[in-house]
Amino acid sequence: MATLPLQDEFNVYESAAARFEAAARKLGLEEGLYRFLKYPAKEITVYIPVMLDSGHLEVFIGYRVHHSIVRGPGKGGIRFAPNVTLDEVRALASWMTWKCAVANIPFGGAKGGVICDPTKLSRGELERITRRYTAELIEWFGPERDVPAPDLGTNEQTMAWIMDTYSMHVRHTTTAVVTGKPIDLGGSQGRQEATGRGVMISCDRALARFRMQRLSTRVIIQGFGNVGSMAAKLLHHAGYKIVGVADIHGALYNENGFDVPELIDWVYGQHKVLSEFPAGGAKMTANEILFQPAEIVIPAAVENQITSENAHRLQTRILCEGANGPCTAMADEIVDRKGIFVIPDILANAGGVTVSYFEWVQDRQGFFWSEKEVNERLKDVIEHSFEEVVRYSETHGVNNRVAAYMLAIDRVAFALKERGIYA
Ligand code: NAD
Repeated sequence: MATLPLQDEFNVYESAAARFEAAARKLGLEEGLYRFLKYPAKEITVYIPVMLDSGHLEVFIGYRVHHSIVRGPGKGGIRFAPNVTLDEVRALASWMTWKCAVANIPFGGAKGGVICDPTKLSRGELERITRRYTAELIEWFGPERDVPAPDLGTNEQTMAWIMDTYSMHVRHTTTAVVTGKPIDLGGSQGRQEATGRGVMISCDRALARFRMQRLSTRVIIQGFGNVGSMAAKLLHHAGYKIVGVADIHGALYNENGFDVPELIDWVYGQHKVLSEFPAGGAKMTANEILFQPAEIVIPAAVENQITSENAHRLQTRILCEGANGPCTAMADEIVDRKGIFVIPDILANAGGVTVSYFEWVQDRQGFFWSEKEVNERLKDVIEHSFEEVVRYSETHGVNNRVAAYMLAIDRVAFALKERGIYA
């Protein structure tokens, strides 16, 4: 099994491939399976013509990648961002395969993206991009084929437009074609805070492991969007002390802890800019916040924040990856040497896809659960997955990240062997 040298630390596809290789090697995965699971099963680029409000015709580029549909339909978000690349979408699709396998939910991995800046587009323009992207991919999507969800730059409104476009094409309302929808269109209770809740459950498990108390646990969170703000809210409510917060514009560190509900009102009210929060603290860049002292650091923004250049500066005991790929593969060894307990992304942020799965199940059966029921089932899945990863790590003498990949690859490879290769 040849190992590719990492050419570009910041290419997330290379980072994903390096981690896959390390785990596959440790598992002793046979060459054919290795090749099959390393590369995406299918990928497509679509050119999306959209009439802008100005009357100018623009063509946007969109992608959808199916990494694996061995364990079930492809599952994964759609990202609208100016810097989306096919390599990034490939990496994110493969992480979805491994994440669904770690959580042991019956989905494969997929991901999509459109190169655009949603902050510079009107609602009408975003709707037209979304509908045309969906129409171009109409044969790919479907409750049994590929089920998109929101990601950076998309939200429940985007999902409502996809659901409607798909339904108009197939001539009947098909709510289960997407997850992360508004509740009154078949969305699930608890979905909005699911990823943040999964992060909190993972932190709780880590604390139990180290016999630490919530009240004396300082937490830093980078990113104050869906994942970061929900994690902050739930952790604060549970008694953790949130001492560092950041959004794209900057960060604040306050040893005394933040009043998170007030901070949320500030950011999501009229003020918008987190670093101008009056009861602030020391101001710094959004990246710098990760290296301040705390028991738990939660990167919940974007990829490649902790690198081979800065990983040695971490001052935390637990690193809980709310974002996908916040550490580069080249940083892994440094983080490991520092003895930091990593809760890897494919475990830590699996709460979102788990409740997406619950949403899909509820849509298909046409029967909806209470928020309490959703949250209890989510807790079961995350706690169970956490314990399985930690047990796997101890049994095989590897760190949590390698263990999570090994567990996931093993599950997908097993399913593949049982199904056999169709020829
Ligand atoms: P979001 O768009 O709601 O929020 C992103 C936050 O990160 C914002 O506060 C933004 O200001 C900040 N940010 C953006 N660029 C930054 C930078 N360079 N430095 C610091 N902060 C920056 O996105 P989200 O849904 O919260 O997703 C965050 C991460 O979590 C992504 O990696 C996403 O793939 C991952 N994730 C999200 C979910 C989910 O359910 N939303 C599930 C699993 C994983």
